[in-house]
Amino acid sequence: MSIIIDEELCTGCASCMESCIYGAIELDNNMAKVLPNCTLCGACIEACPEEAISLKRNGDRAQKIDISHFKGVWVVAEHYKKKIQNISLQLLGKGRKLADILSVNLTLVILGTDFDDKLEEFSLYGMDEIIYIKSPILKDYYSDLYTKVITELVLENKPEIILIGATPTGRDFAPRVAKRLSAGLTADCTGLEINLETRNLLQTRPTYGGTIMATIRTPSSRPQMATVRAGIFKIPEK
Ligand code: SF4
Ligand code: SF4
Repeated sequence: MSIIIDEELCTGCASCMESCIYGAIELDNNMAKVLPNCTLCGACIEACPEEAISLKRNGDRAQKIDISHFKGVWVVAEHYKKKIQNISLQLLGKGRKLADILSVNLTLVILGTDFDDKLEEFSLYGMDEIIYIKSPILKDYYSDLYTKVITELVLENKPEIILIGATPTGRDFAPRVAKRLSAGLTADCTGLEINLETRNLLQTRPTYGGTIMATIRTPSSRPQMATVRAGIFKIPEK
């Protein structure tokens, strides 16, 4: 996938630059230009008043995807010193609600080591299952390794929604995984809802410096990936 600027429609207003938290878009001769660090988050598409920005999909892959094969809600755990971070627990609370609406399982995905004696405690937070990839080399976060392992897990298990904390770690691996999967990713969400008719995740995030809220959908790609800001959702009671 790639972000395309329609040069005939672009007026050089720079709204897209202001909406891009990654600094991945600039003006060149009064024309928007997308830079290589674009994460395909889609925020600039919503921000453009001229509808000059679009997401171009890889045609072959788009045809191959049958979104009905994707089921379930995943939360990818972030941890430190054998403790799951609060943002991941908050996502379990919201993930439970989304999974219940969709009538699917909620899964916590842990990449790490030394969590065997913690799994029972984690299960009290309301998930249906835990995927625990245990290895000493996953003890600490390593960008390429996380990207590779999570990508392979997704290809094997086909979740329809993946929730990740909008932390430095989450912001690092989420776009890498999304790019490998040609999946939609919305960064820094502050609201998540479900359209049950389409099973689309409605991902709301601030744009225009926080003055406007944009709701983003990725109707023809799966999984639907979202990074979510800390403190938006509550940690569920055990
Ligand atoms: S927001 Fe749209 S019209 Fe304005 S510079 Fe960006 S692409 Fe061009
Ligand atoms: S898709 Fe996202 S990262 Fe890429 S240019 Fe647009 S706002 Fe920036």
